[in-house]
Amino acid sequence: MTLVRKFIVNLLHLKDIFVCSYQFRHRDKELHLFVKPYKVGCRCPHCGRRGAIMHISSSPRMWRDIPVFRWTVFLCYQPKEIYCTTHGRIQEEIPWADPYARITYRFEYALLVYCQLMTQKAAARLLHIPTSTLSDLLHQSIVRFRDRHRIRGLRSIGVDEISYCKGHKYATIVYDLDRSCVVWVERGKGRDTIDLFFEYCLSGHQKEQILWAACDMSEAYIGAIQEHCPNVKLVLDRFHIVKAINTALDEVRKEQWREASAEERKVLKGLRWLLFKRSSTRSKKDSRTLHALEKGNRRIYRAWLLKDEFEQFWEFKTRWAAERFLERWTTSALRTRLEPMRKLANTLRKHSAEIVSFVHTRLTNAVAEGLNRIIRIIKNRASGFRTLDAFADIIFLTVGDLDIPAQIPGKFRTV
Ligand SMILES: [Zn+2]
Repeated sequence: MTLVRKFIVNLLHLKDIFVCSYQFRHRDKELHLFVKPYKVGCRCPHCGRRGAIMHISSSPRMWRDIPVFRWTVFLCYQPKEIYCTTHGRIQEEIPWADPYARITYRFEYALLVYCQLMTQKAAARLLHIPTSTLSDLLHQSIVRFRDRHRIRGLRSIGVDEISYCKGHKYATIVYDLDRSCVVWVERGKGRDTIDLFFEYCLSGHQKEQILWAACDMSEAYIGAIQEHCPNVKLVLDRFHIVKAINTALDEVRKEQWREASAEERKVLKGLRWLLFKRSSTRSKKDSRTLHALEKGNRRIYRAWLLKDEFEQFWEFKTRWAAERFLERWTTSALRTRLEPMRKLANTLRKHSAEIVSFVHTRLTNAVAEGLNRIIRIIKNRASGFRTLDAFADIIFLTVGDLDIPAQIPGKFRTV
């Protein structure tokens, strides 16, 4: 081996690959390495035994490798077809890449890790490829690994919806709440979408194993969970109930704002976020402003009082106390003439069993909300995703139940 070749082999860490020659293409800034998988003979990909060469492909194949400084590196080789006594006619083993891939394992690993850490645009720049090529490669990798993957040991699930394409479209996400990861993503937020998950991803036994589920007050999710999981204890998620109460309160505020005269509006100004504040985060001044509403605008004050009272619900330790509270709360909400609050009270009554379940289980989608926050950060970092495929790729890569970079053979996991 010449000194330069030895230097290249060491520098690029091509330990198990035999480099026959190299070529620097100055115009394209490319380094082509003409390599051989093994110094002597060709091996069967299944049993590793040497086989007789049957056919040599006419055109050399190129695999993109990790770039070095300004050089884009390619491995070049003409794969041979061999005859193995056990496995018959077969393409020889290519140890540095997946059988049909056009990139090396090392490159694939770098791509996956970079995409976890930074935007696809930045990753593409570091890897010397166009962003569109990078998204395609990423999608291929993720589909390849996820196709082989099966969901295992699901006990507690969370179901939630997430928007993409600038909030125009929705997807349903299923979380594993014990392991805090995403197990499934699919477009749509209706019953037919969530049914797909239970019908195609879980066996009958797996559905029986699901003991806890948390979701929002959407009939589609509640219906599907109750139908498919016989042993489940469904808990309506705390986060979503609080959100629903806040939404109802905000509707009352908006209604009053529309009807108010210029003079009356002065009192209502700046209320929007103040009304949502929990008692623990309110300052004395906030409380004073809110209590002034009693004289300023009785309808908003009434709605806010209801919202504020409901905070107690999360403190109950016994079921009967929580039930009694919910009963009283909904009764007083129904007595008001605030339409959004009455509507909400009816919904809460309908699902009271699932809401009260919280007292014992303390199960919330908090884990899912945490993951959602990460997903939102990714979404903002990429300034949105237009297709669900691209979005789901990144979700699975960063918060999925399968550690995708760890699927690359160990010795190639270096960046
Ligand atoms: Zn073989």
